[in-house]
Amino acid sequence: MNSKILIIGACGQIGSELTFKLRSLYGDDNVIASDISYSNLDIVNSGIFEIVDAQDYASIKVCVEKYNIDTVYLMAAMLSATGEKYPMKAWNLNMTSLFNVLNLARAKFIEKIFWPSSIAVFGPTTPREDTPQYTVMEPSTVYGITKQVGERWCEYYHKNYDVDVRSLRYPGIISWKTLPGGGTTDYAVEIYHKAITGKAYECFLSENTALPMMFMDDAIKATVDIMTADTNAVKIRSSYNLSAMSFTPKEVAASIKKHIADFEISYNPDFRQSIADSWPSSIDDAQAREDWDWSSDFNLEAMTNEMLIQLSKKYATSNKIIE
Ligand code: NAD
Repeated sequence: MNSKILIIGACGQIGSELTFKLRSLYGDDNVIASDISYSNLDIVNSGIFEIVDAQDYASIKVCVEKYNIDTVYLMAAMLSATGEKYPMKAWNLNMTSLFNVLNLARAKFIEKIFWPSSIAVFGPTTPREDTPQYTVMEPSTVYGITKQVGERWCEYYHKNYDVDVRSLRYPGIISWKTLPGGGTTDYAVEIYHKAITGKAYECFLSENTALPMMFMDDAIKATVDIMTADTNAVKIRSSYNLSAMSFTPKEVAASIKKHIADFEISYNPDFRQSIADSWPSSIDDAQAREDWDWSSDFNLEAMTNEMLIQLSKKYATSNKIIE
């Protein structure tokens, strides 16, 4: 029987692209998009859409029962930069939403969960280069704390209640369809929008800040791969390290300049610099490669090429420019 899927937080940067991908795989009627508001009309108008509050157990359960959902992708969260401004809201949203779906699975209303973790689970005491799967984890942001605690709970629910929960530690995700929602790696999306619209970019991180990054297509591929992997292949039930590339603002600017020679960048680090400084610069994802055959397709050059092609098409048909 075909899977019936609910995506919570489907209007966001990753949820929106995941919705389209899962609909192409499982059929439009089998993938229900939901969010707390109608913030992304492309998603709202593209198929079945419901308002669901991830913090409200009953709100999710009603939707699960209405559509006979067996699999939930929980993409709602407050991200790193916004989380530092609203610590308790970040804690409440990120933890309550996770407990809600874990408890729905424990009570057998759903069978399978995808929940994203992040490189933010690591902290200043973690080895920064090629950060291993198992290492020191002392996150210094609220967001990182919620993700690390979330990982522990996922493993706990799997071990003690046999909940089939699967998770990836996404690096910074770069995409052209939907803007990012308040993370520390958002600069690597904004920079392409400025470049393609002929503007200079003032970066909120310093020029040599290396961070792990990934093009959206690879993030979606990894998500589908881990969710379709044989259950015995998914040996880690906290969350898997995941890697594609690592670059600095200076390096991404240089890759853009190969296409747009007069593109200008300046640097004015703000509070997000200290968040970035607490994270790894590169990630060792050997375990994901070994357990469920993970491999990435996009490096920096291939991603820059694709971002500039897609954004130039997008701006040619729209008059919206991000400020
Ligand atoms: P986003 O901020 O773009 O989207 C989150 C969505 O959740 C938004 O559409 C928002 O309206 C919705 N939402 C907020 N509160 C809600 C609630 N109470 N109920 C229902 N929906 C609610 O985030 P994203 O970048 O798409 O991230 C998705 C997941 O991936 C998150 O768990 C995030 O921590 C993780 N992640 C993202 C990145 C990245 O670079 N984007 C990196 C690492 C991990």
